[in-house]
Amino acid sequence: MEFESRLAQIGSISEPVTGAVSFPIYNATAFRHPRLGESTGFDYSRTKNPTRTVLEEAIADLESGDAGFAFSSGMAALQTIFAMFGQGDHLLVSLDLYGGTYRLIEQVLNRFGITASYVDTNDLDELERNCTANTKAVLIETPTNPLMRITNLRKVSEWAKGRGLLVIVDNTLLTPFFQRPLELGADLVIHSATKYLGGHNDVLAGLIVTKGKELSEQIGFLQNSIGAVLGPNDSWLLMRGMKTLALRMERHQFNATQIAKFLTEHALVEEVYYPGLESHPDQVLQSKQSSGNTGILSFKVRKARYVDPILRHIRLIAFAESLGGVESLMTYPAVQTHGDIPVEIRNRVGVNDRLLRFSVGIEHIDDLISDLAHAFDAALAEEHAEGQVQEGGQSND
Ligand SMILES: *Cc1c(COP(=O)(O)O)cnc(C)c1O
Repeated sequence: MEFESRLAQIGSISEPVTGAVSFPIYNATAFRHPRLGESTGFDYSRTKNPTRTVLEEAIADLESGDAGFAFSSGMAALQTIFAMFGQGDHLLVSLDLYGGTYRLIEQVLNRFGITASYVDTNDLDELERNCTANTKAVLIETPTNPLMRITNLRKVSEWAKGRGLLVIVDNTLLTPFFQRPLELGADLVIHSATKYLGGHNDVLAGLIVTKGKELSEQIGFLQNSIGAVLGPNDSWLLMRGMKTLALRMERHQFNATQIAKFLTEHALVEEVYYPGLESHPDQVLQSKQSSGNTGILSFKVRKARYVDPILRHIRLIAFAESLGGVESLMTYPAVQTHGDIPVEIRNRVGVNDRLLRFSVGIEHIDDLISDLAHAFDAALAEEHAEGQVQEGGQSND
């Protein structure tokens, strides 16, 4: 079945008793055993819950993996993956990284003796230089957030196989609709399903998909042992969102491409970071390993003084953290999503005080562009007014 059909049909043929088209929410935490030594397949909901199982099977199928696992947040999913490692283990991690992942590694995992080096994961020499006898895995975000750098997943997976390293890909920004890392050689995929998979800014969730029996058993063991599982109500809400993923991603991509073009031509903007633009250095690679582009883009305005008035004057676009929902959100990474990343690393990757990140929603493109144009005009008008006040002040001296 084609991808769109599989999405629309999530959970709709799984309910054997009533034939319910929308899979029921099983709030039960305990399940009766038929007799000693027998089970219905469900015993206790942390271990396995019928609603969660339908979601887990769906994401495993969509990502071309062997098993899926649902968690209470993207961070809970990442923590469960990191629990595969222990004292003395080392990780290679994308330099331009989601701030929360950096914080989890540096402020929590470090206490358990796990360390990481932050590298350009598309540079094999840099990966090689930073790989030690204790290195166990490479964690990749592609595209990265907020600077939209692309990693060649096939190339890095081949290199990692040769070193016996696991390849973990955070596929939050593209979703399996546009990119399936396991088909390109990765071992594990993780999602903040809070973003595009849920898609409506109304459910917090994380997912892991594994390849191979051994990894699947290991993550299943850790999911049950740690217990940061997704509840049945949120599992249902997430499946409801995922049914429309294809439609939403196509619209996100269309809108983001139009916005990227608008920004590229605007005098207030110095640089636009969007892999769908021909000017993007990795546009060709991106179009080979993915079938489309995300709705996230970032841009640098010419002066830091424009940031505050732009964020004050956008109306339709909300000034808010997060990404991937139907509503457009704009954020200021240097102080918000990436505030926990040290200034040296931020500067090295280019997250400076002139960078704004835009999660383009599915509103009408004309409304989005006029909202941006209005906010940019307001920023220029404020600058002009302040300039006149200053000039007036000087002539009075
Ligand atoms: C949001 C996000 C996370 C964390 O997920 P939560 O659901 O917020 O816990 C991890 N990785 C990426 C790329 C994200 O955008």
